[in-house]
Amino acid sequence: MTEQPGTSRTSGRDGKDGATRRSGQAGAGDLLALVRSGRATTRGALQQATGLSRATVGQRLDRLFRAGWLREGAGGPVDSPLGGRPSITLEFDDEHAVVLAADLDTRHARAALLTLTGETVAERAGTLVVEDGPEVVLGELGRWFAELLEKAGRGVDAVCGIGLAVPGPVECDTGRVVQPPIMPGWDGYDIRGRLSRAVAEHAGAAAASLPVLVDNDANAMAYAEQRAAHPDASAFVLVKVSTGIGAGVVVDGSIYRGTDGGAGDIGHIRVPEGAQALCRCGSYGCLAAVASGGAVARRLTAAGVPAESGSDVRQLLAAGHPEAVALAREAGRLVGDVLATVVTLLNPGVLMIAGDLAGTPFLTGVRELLYQRALPRSTAHLEVVTSRLGERAGLVGAGALVVEHLYAPQRAEERLSALGV
Ligand SMILES: [Zn+2]
Repeated sequence: MTEQPGTSRTSGRDGKDGATRRSGQAGAGDLLALVRSGRATTRGALQQATGLSRATVGQRLDRLFRAGWLREGAGGPVDSPLGGRPSITLEFDDEHAVVLAADLDTRHARAALLTLTGETVAERAGTLVVEDGPEVVLGELGRWFAELLEKAGRGVDAVCGIGLAVPGPVECDTGRVVQPPIMPGWDGYDIRGRLSRAVAEHAGAAAASLPVLVDNDANAMAYAEQRAAHPDASAFVLVKVSTGIGAGVVVDGSIYRGTDGGAGDIGHIRVPEGAQALCRCGSYGCLAAVASGGAVARRLTAAGVPAESGSDVRQLLAAGHPEAVALAREAGRLVGDVLATVVTLLNPGVLMIAGDLAGTPFLTGVRELLYQRALPRSTAHLEVVTSRLGERAGLVGAGALVVEHLYAPQRAEERLSALGV
């Protein structure tokens, strides 16, 4: 039977909490969460955090050791909070399984085999055109994953899950994209089913039962960047400006998705400057129709500088092409105007600009309008920054979402039972 996550809405949520389960005592999954977060890493500290007896903590830890999920730390014994003998530190064994992760952009994709703490075991990038449709793209991705496993010398039985970031709005419960403007042919398609079949076809039948988590690329990027670069930011917003425009919002360590997974889709907010511009969603006046990498590419082409996509614009910007620089700054001003509203609503501590257009000209434009239009109180402690993880952010986020989903307390408990430990 295929083990599918109930909903991606829960992923990433449960990892941080859970000193106690709602139903009562802390379980093995809760102890694992405490160790992984670093809040309690010795038997004594776990007793103290959970109120469990020494014997009960021992029993639950034994389950985690038998599953291969925990190991004794390399650092040697530390003083116990309860006094007495120094305790051995415990740590999450990040080598007991691996994760397959991929980030699809409109014309380019990146895939990797990652450890459970996000270290790269093997990685590849290349051309994959989203417009070729899900059947072709996910089939090819299955082949990439099989090659990565082979290169790393790992079998598919070592994989605990698959994460995929896509450039469109994702429905939480089904992992399907809903009316994605820049993913023709993907609307409502069973991405999870096709991807696990493709991996099974190329890497072995065991892949058919792997959980697959699908999320929006800006969400995955925001999740990874917040954890990697701004762990103390309780309200974090990432705006990806590539072929389209999207935003990911991370509040208290969890992705904020809204009711239908549509939160952050700021590319289709109406702006007066776009009144005459037809957007790929079918409407006139969207921000993405005038300020995305795709829009800048079209304007460059019209001005005699051929550019097809956001990544072409990125190359022109890297070369300091004056027309591209001027248009990127203007696009930044349009996005900055919309971000003034975003910042007023959410009051984030960090606003990260990422994607093909994220460079000095675009950021200058964003800052010009943002600080002019937003209330000083909303921007007093706001940092406007660029990416730490760069082009790998979506990939790292897709992998991290899988791990947080699978090792969240409740899910971990269920998986331990399924393992018979
Ligand atoms: Zn639109």
